[in-house]
Amino acid sequence: MRFTEFNFHPDLLEGITASNYENATPVQEQVIPPILEGRDVIASAQTGTGKTAAFLLPVMNKLLKHHVDGQTGALIVVPTRELAIQISQHIEGLSYFTHLSSIAIYGGSGGDNFIAEKKALQAGADIIVCTPGRMIAHLNMGYVNMKGLQFLVLDEADRMLDMGFQDDINKIIKTLPAKRQSLLFSATMPDKIRKLARTILHDPAEVNIAISKPPEKIVQKAFVVHEPQKLPLVIKLLKESTYKNALVFCSRKHTVKQLTRELKRAKLNVAEIHSDLEQAERENVLSAFAGGRIPLLVATDILSRGIDIDTIDLVVNYDVPEDGEDYVHRIGRTARAEADGTAYTLIGDKEHNRFAAIERLLEKEVEKAAVPPELGPAPAYHPRRNDGNKRGKRTFHRGNRARPGRKGN
Ligand code: AMP
Repeated sequence: MRFTEFNFHPDLLEGITASNYENATPVQEQVIPPILEGRDVIASAQTGTGKTAAFLLPVMNKLLKHHVDGQTGALIVVPTRELAIQISQHIEGLSYFTHLSSIAIYGGSGGDNFIAEKKALQAGADIIVCTPGRMIAHLNMGYVNMKGLQFLVLDEADRMLDMGFQDDINKIIKTLPAKRQSLLFSATMPDKIRKLARTILHDPAEVNIAISKPPEKIVQKAFVVHEPQKLPLVIKLLKESTYKNALVFCSRKHTVKQLTRELKRAKLNVAEIHSDLEQAERENVLSAFAGGRIPLLVATDILSRGIDIDTIDLVVNYDVPEDGEDYVHRIGRTARAEADGTAYTLIGDKEHNRFAAIERLLEKEVEKAAVPPELGPAPAYHPRRNDGNKRGKRTFHRGNRARPGRKGN
């Protein structure tokens, strides 16, 4: 479905075009119409599905039509500073040709920031994106005017509850007008989210864009390592495993090339596949792989979807993929049909949080296997669970200040 079919305000449509969006993603197609109709919505959708624009666009469209100067029209509550910044950048891009203003409030101990935030809040930003703790600090001071609020959005609600923000969310909601539209987005839908939804939403439209879970029969293990331990570990795993076909995934083609060189040096029969190869070369590599002439393939995510070779019995993630959906697709290359499969993931020093996000999505913890002692001491698994609301930063923009958003971030 094309964005021109939603009947959006022309200024908003211009921002959509400038952001290089042409067709709505599935979550956008399902979420935008009920929001435009005025309904509450509960949606299960992960990062990467286009969920942010799915709520921003209809909210912005309605604010453009029923704008009250000096009054906040939408409050978007999110778990982390990073997400607040990301959403705020989305707003900047999409609202570039409109007069809508927004502010991101995401914690900080600095008095200067607090005063600047206070001023912006008193001026009345059309859209506020916030983490719960900092917003409450402002609400407690009594100068935030929520009388004109039309929309409440809770994004990544499951993560907010995991991080212990339930009470803060309830406190924020108490300050809002009862007559409003509420939208709840969550990657997963455990019972506690359904319970929260019952207290906040009225007769919501339900949208489910959940990714499928990987088959249970795939044995998943992860190794927590320092970056320099990755190469010796992957060589050891490949040399000591028995497999018909093994796929090693790397997020970047540069890493694919480098790793393939090292594996060849280690005398493994290996080929590489990535977007630098011509279509014909890719097909040759794939047929050598499927036919068993080359049992081991190092690949970027171009292979994580679609490839269906039922003799793949081992997948190794040399790095942790950016989002959970890629992880599910990558490891889903093994254990096709009736075959069994094993999936190993190497978690580097900077990848703990990313892997924890995947575990949340899978709703299970992946077993952390022992790193062979000859590779030296390995680190402990220590994902960060709070939003690190330590340093504060403020963004406030009105209309045409920023450049339109980019397509990828
Ligand atoms: P999100 O799931 O909201 O984090 O969005 C994932 C990425 O997709 C972001 O970089 C968006 O800018 C981009 N995106 C969102 N909607 C569309 C669309 N309809 N067409 C192309 N890119 C999009």
